[in-house]
Amino acid sequence: MLDTSEIIDLRPRRNKVRPDRPYHFLHERERGPDGGLKEVNTVFLTNSECPFKCVMCDLWKNTLKEPVQPGDIPAQISHALRRLPQARVVKLYNNGNFFDRQAVPPEDYEAIARLLSGYERVVIENHPKLCGTGCLAFRQLLSGRLEIAMGLETIHPGVLPKLNKQITTENFAEAASFLAQNNIDTRAFILLNPPFLTDPAENITWAVKSVEFAFRCGVSACSIIPTRTGNGAMEKLQQEGHYVPPTIAALEQVFEQALRSDGGRVFVDLWDLKRFSECDHCFEERKQRLDQMNRKQQVSPPVQCPQCRQ
Ligand code: SF4
Ligand SMILES: [Zn+2]
Repeated sequence: MLDTSEIIDLRPRRNKVRPDRPYHFLHERERGPDGGLKEVNTVFLTNSECPFKCVMCDLWKNTLKEPVQPGDIPAQISHALRRLPQARVVKLYNNGNFFDRQAVPPEDYEAIARLLSGYERVVIENHPKLCGTGCLAFRQLLSGRLEIAMGLETIHPGVLPKLNKQITTENFAEAASFLAQNNIDTRAFILLNPPFLTDPAENITWAVKSVEFAFRCGVSACSIIPTRTGNGAMEKLQQEGHYVPPTIAALEQVFEQALRSDGGRVFVDLWDLKRFSECDHCFEERKQRLDQMNRKQQVSPPVQCPQCRQ
């Protein structure tokens, strides 16, 4: 297990980012809770660094060392939305917690809500322990429905405490319940192959169990994130035998099982998927199948590859 100072000491350099610009934005389509395919604008905000230092996290790479100033976040959102097409849903992903006052100054909530007034759904990210009155204040200002994405990561009792996330499954359940009582939707991020779980079959089992737990907590969607190296700590854990990267085959199995459990919408994160590929021959076909399953929310026929025989 690594503590916060070790995790920080192992880090490579962060990327150069500007406080008045999002570091990325994109347009995508995603199946909504009503079953319709929705146009989505996703803005990756440049923010101050998250105060939690999870061992698997590399989101700090695109953050600022200092707090953002009032006006910065609305300026970033405005910059991105002026360049993106019309959409029904907007996601603000900020590499941290929207209701951390250092990350998004509450005096900016009104300006942010004004910029998002044309959207029917607003998705933001937040830590379960920071779900409180700030969520309610922001929800009041929105014309669309608020959805809060929270990292559950894993429910494995031996692994979750070692991630330095500083949550328990009870914290997650309480946050989801509080938000549901206040008419706020939730989604969960679930890790495939968290560090400290190295058996391939166990990784599949616990990812599916974690998805099922999140749905029992009332979330309406789960996003499965394959873990990766690149933040220093994960390389060290891999060298020491405490981390193994996931494979596309494992991601496919988790996705199929999670969709068949029929608890709600399930998505897999396809960003940088190539790094998990074991076969060049079938990679594109497998990626397209996963993309199709994301959109249709149904299991597609498996890929049969003559090269890798998977
Ligand atoms: S709470 Fe989220 S953003 Fe913060 S360190 Fe953990 S994974 Fe990264
Ligand atoms: Zn293959």
